[in-house]
Amino acid sequence: MPKFFIKTYGCQMNERDSEQVAHSLAARGYERVGHESEADVVLLNTCSVRDMADQKALGKMGMLGRLAKDRPHMVFGFLGCMAQARGASLLKDLPHVDLVVGTQKFHRVADYVDEVVAKKAAQEAGVNAPGYSRMDDLRISVVDVEAEAGSQSSIRDQQLMPRRATAFVSIMQGCNMHCTFCIVPQTRGAERSRSVGEIVAEVRDLVSRGVKEVTLLGQIVNLYGRHEFPKVDNKSPFVQLLESVHEVEGLERLRFTSPHPIGFRDDLIDAISRLPKLAEHVHLPLQSGSNKILKAMHRAYTTEKYLDLVERIRRTRNGVAITTDIIIGFPGETEEDYRQTRDLVEEIQFDNAFVFRYSPRRDTPASEMSDQIDEHLKEERNQDLLEVVNKSNRRLLERLVGSQVEVLCEGPSKTNRARLMGRTRTNKIVVFPPSPKRRPTGEREELVGELVNVRIERANGFSLYGMPEV
Ligand code: SF4
Repeated sequence: MPKFFIKTYGCQMNERDSEQVAHSLAARGYERVGHESEADVVLLNTCSVRDMADQKALGKMGMLGRLAKDRPHMVFGFLGCMAQARGASLLKDLPHVDLVVGTQKFHRVADYVDEVVAKKAAQEAGVNAPGYSRMDDLRISVVDVEAEAGSQSSIRDQQLMPRRATAFVSIMQGCNMHCTFCIVPQTRGAERSRSVGEIVAEVRDLVSRGVKEVTLLGQIVNLYGRHEFPKVDNKSPFVQLLESVHEVEGLERLRFTSPHPIGFRDDLIDAISRLPKLAEHVHLPLQSGSNKILKAMHRAYTTEKYLDLVERIRRTRNGVAITTDIIIGFPGETEEDYRQTRDLVEEIQFDNAFVFRYSPRRDTPASEMSDQIDEHLKEERNQDLLEVVNKSNRRLLERLVGSQVEVLCEGPSKTNRARLMGRTRTNKIVVFPPSPKRRPTGEREELVGELVNVRIERANGFSLYGMPEV
């Protein structure tokens, strides 16, 4: 059977979608490989959130054209957000591309790959493919970026690596918020949610395969189900979902990302206080510390409301980590607007923040705004804010030196394969040596996939280092 390689750009939603595609191909006997040079089918699951992401995927596909020349049977495809946004136009400059499949059609990718593989094989053999009377009819490319009702429920299977401790579970697709800098409502469509029953079944299946931690994913995850399901006992559909997933036996930790501050109501704060499997980490996008800029972004909350929310979350659960996303250099951002963002970041002392320089995204209202900010100024503010963020991050990590933390061991560390890595409940990365304990057979005790208590010895950059307690 053919071998396939998927490269994923962008967010965790894309990673999750890629696993769905990998599962569907593996279920048909295709073999997954770790590099494009070994593959017969190369799929790029693209991101469109910034122009740079588009350029990266286009550049990569351009380079893959070399492989196409030597191996004409190979199949190349664009999937996901950029495929959705650009559609058939992607075929113009990249004639070796066979597939362009949008965000609501991941479940059709395996069918399309089969179809193109069969046609190419037929073409190579010089015979007609079934159903086609002449070679001239053998059009190879497939473009499918249509909306499809119910597609959110098709993201339910995933290819898990052995001893995988964590998994993402997609609970909804799309977004109705229309932030002025964001292309997602166009690429992912309107909000559509899966049912509680389907999601719980997926989590049960993952836990039965050894997963101990799941992260529920949605563009505005806390607004899950608001168009489909009613409130019950004043609890939002999202809180009802958290309660149901929390019940799954064997699940140790539950996370969700990313919530929108406007949907973060008292019922969710209450759930954080009473559902112990919910990990002590909330990623809460701020975007700007200036009310003027938040308004221009269509973010629908004020900095005062955001700060109040952070305080309420911190009061409800001891030691909860708060991380955020911030955009620097949004059109019209004055020195005073930036100073307000900086002040708020200093005041909140985030555990971590992803700071992005605003880059105009075509087909969004912000890209048409006249008062775009000079790139040098953006870079200056970006560097300045990163220093503030890194300082509070370092301080919070150093506080953990000498303490014992619970770590879910995910596998070998990326930078040193002889060491293991995992995350604390507050989502901090911890690197530690394998267990010194030996089984009677002489093998090292296996920690991957297990909860391990680690004594923290030092903090460095963005990670903690320690020794497992045995
Ligand atoms: S909430 Fe705003 S930033 Fe997030 S996906 Fe929706 S439109 Fe984009």
